[in-house]
Amino acid sequence: MLRAIYPGSFDPVTYGHLDIIMRSSEIADELIVGVLNNNAKSPLFSVEERVKMLKEVTKNMPKVTVVSFEGLLVDFARKMNAGAVIRGLRAITDFEYEFQLAQTNRKLEAGVETLFLTTSLEYSYLSSTTVKEIASFGGDISQFVPAYVESRIQEKIKKRRV
Ligand code: ADP
Repeated sequence: MLRAIYPGSFDPVTYGHLDIIMRSSEIADELIVGVLNNNAKSPLFSVEERVKMLKEVTKNMPKVTVVSFEGLLVDFARKMNAGAVIRGLRAITDFEYEFQLAQTNRKLEAGVETLFLTTSLEYSYLSSTTVKEIASFGGDISQFVPAYVESRIQEKIKKRRV
């Protein structure tokens, strides 16, 4: 039985994240999407809002649950009794950071393996930051995020302008 964690900021969730969620839930028996509560990154969406969006867009995926967490990923993995951490690799630029993270986590907790899924090519350029930037300039983000998320971003941007 493999219970895996897919951690991230998901500020907000994009089709790139969803691609990793769908593919890793084919591999794992249970997939916990862990939403990092990290105010240091000053996210556009609160952790509650990010969890809500993820729950909405994964509601038809029975193996997937969404929870927020704070602190060390390895502590969260231990608490959840998860044997693997899933990370997505977009480009070579992701590699160095991800490599460092995986090695450090293994030092901290040898029982948790990090599994990398390479992105589907069509999403290899996609990041939450790009999506927010395009939206803030009034660009069309419908190819990058689900309609529900698109509406939440538009709402947020409108509120910020007021
Ligand atoms: P973090 O703030 O931890 O980088 P993100 O929310 O940006 O969190 O991403 C979470 C995980 O999803 C990371 O492993 C990241 O590499 C991966 N990811 C982000 N965007 C994509 C994408 N377009 N395709 C594949 N993986 C992605």
